[in-house]
This record gives sequence, C-alpha cells and structure tokens, in this order.
Amino acid sequence: MANATEQIPWRPTPVVRLSLLIHATAAVMVVIQPALWPWALGAVAGNHLFLMAAVFWPRGGALGANLVRLPATAAARGEVSVTFDDGPDPEVTPRVLDLLDRHQAKASFFCIAERAAAHPDLVREIARRGHDVENHSHRHSGAFAFYGIFRLKRELESAQAVVSGLTGRAPRFFRAPMGLRSPLLDPVLARCGLRYVSWTRRGLDGMHRNPERVLQRLSNGLAAGDILLLHDNGCSRTRDGTPVVLAVLPELLDRIRASGLSPVTLAAAASES
Ligand SMILES: [Zn+2]
Repeated sequence: MANATEQIPWRPTPVVRLSLLIHATAAVMVVIQPALWPWALGAVAGNHLFLMAAVFWPRGGALGANLVRLPATAAARGEVSVTFDDGPDPEVTPRVLDLLDRHQAKASFFCIAERAAAHPDLVREIARRGHDVENHSHRHSGAFAFYGIFRLKRELESAQAVVSGLTGRAPRFFRAPMGLRSPLLDPVLARCGLRYVSWTRRGLDGMHRNPERVLQRLSNGLAAGDILLLHDNGCSRTRDGTPVVLAVLPELLDRIRASGLSPVTLAAAASES
C-alpha cells in the first residue's frame, strides 16, 4: 500500500545502549550483592541525570537520529524546508496556505492530531495544495517527554491514523511537543516508520512579538539545507494584533527566493532523486 509507512529497524545509539547496560548491571549487582545497593542506585541516578539533560537538548542526537538539517543531496539542490507546528488553526492556517501559494512554496505542517480531527477540511486543504502533514503527537501534552513507552506508542499511532485517514498519506516525520524527546521514543518511532526532525533555525514566534526579530532569527545565515520552524497555531501577535507568522512569512519567503533557494517539503527534500 503506497500510503502506509514501513517500520524502520531500531538501532539504539551508544548512549542508549550504555544506559541499558547500566540498568542491567545495577539490577544484577543488587541481586548478587545486596549490600552494594548504594552503588547501584548511584549509577542509575547518574545515568538518569544524563538522560534528563539529553531530553532538554532538542537538537542533540544522543537519544536517536535527529534531522537538524536536510540531507546533503537536498542542500546540493538548493532546498530548504519551512515547517509549521501546532496547527491547524482556522484563522491562521488558511492565510499561511495563501501566502505559500503566492510564493510557490511547499511546506510541512506538524499538526496536533486532536486539532486535525477537529478541523478535517483544513487538513485536507493543506494536503490538496501540495503540502505535507506530519505527526506532532495526538494531544501535544506538556508531559509527553515523560510518558511510558505504551503511552508514547498510543500517542504516535493514533496521530498517524488521524492524519492518514484525512489526507490518505501516513506522516513520515515526527517532532516532539516542545522539542522535548523521551529516551523511550526511538523504538516507537521506528515501529511507526517515522523519522525524528527538529530544526536548523527556529523563529521563537511563540515568544517574540516583534516580527523583525523572528525574521532575523530565521534568515541570518540562511543556507541551503536549513529546516526552519514557525507556528501556525499559538504564535504571538504583533502590536496591531496580526499573528507574527503572517507578518514574517512573506518577507521570509522573499529572502529564501532571493538567496536562490527553493522551499520544499521535508519528504521531497529527503528523497534521493
Ligand atoms: Zn508544538
């Protein structure tokens, strides 16, 4: 079936392998020599501190492969990817789509599945205009990075089902809510056939009200292969009440074109042809 994603073999990173080894060794140590429990506990606690630091390092690769730039083949073609998180939004997303059309740009939308289900026509419209809808979890919980493995699996699989049902295409990329990645996420991604993606530059348009500042963050040093992050839901508003993403996007797309770059979806950029 063309639209289904295939499982990807899970290959734990050296950090994850070492963490599993520390846990197993500590467990064996306590069984064989119960008096050594403080050492076992210390090793496991130290490992958890390290893993916690990795969770809060969104562009890091300690917990699994992480796309922070497009592949070299896409960069050689002069491609960049503009990505939008947290939508769809009935007010902002249609206007983002019109701006993208006007600039003949294609983008990837990391939709929250719960919102996608609430605005099905909008999600179909994103796909109809040639953009991709990707997986940004089902509910976008603030506790996502601390979920157990079965809950992570439910979140990702239900989001895959919602988006596939609406667009006829299963998402191929996943970005964690707030960019906080659980140490348990990687095998779930592999099972769902999803690749993890963060960003090269993010506008922080949920924080800054000044569009010029957001534009600078995204376009200073802009280069082929960049993955840019904006929000079509939950972004700040300028002093006159305009969503920052709408104030930034026309100039950003102009700058991308003026630099000789072309905005394409992540899936198009990741294809080898
Ligand atoms: Zn988000």
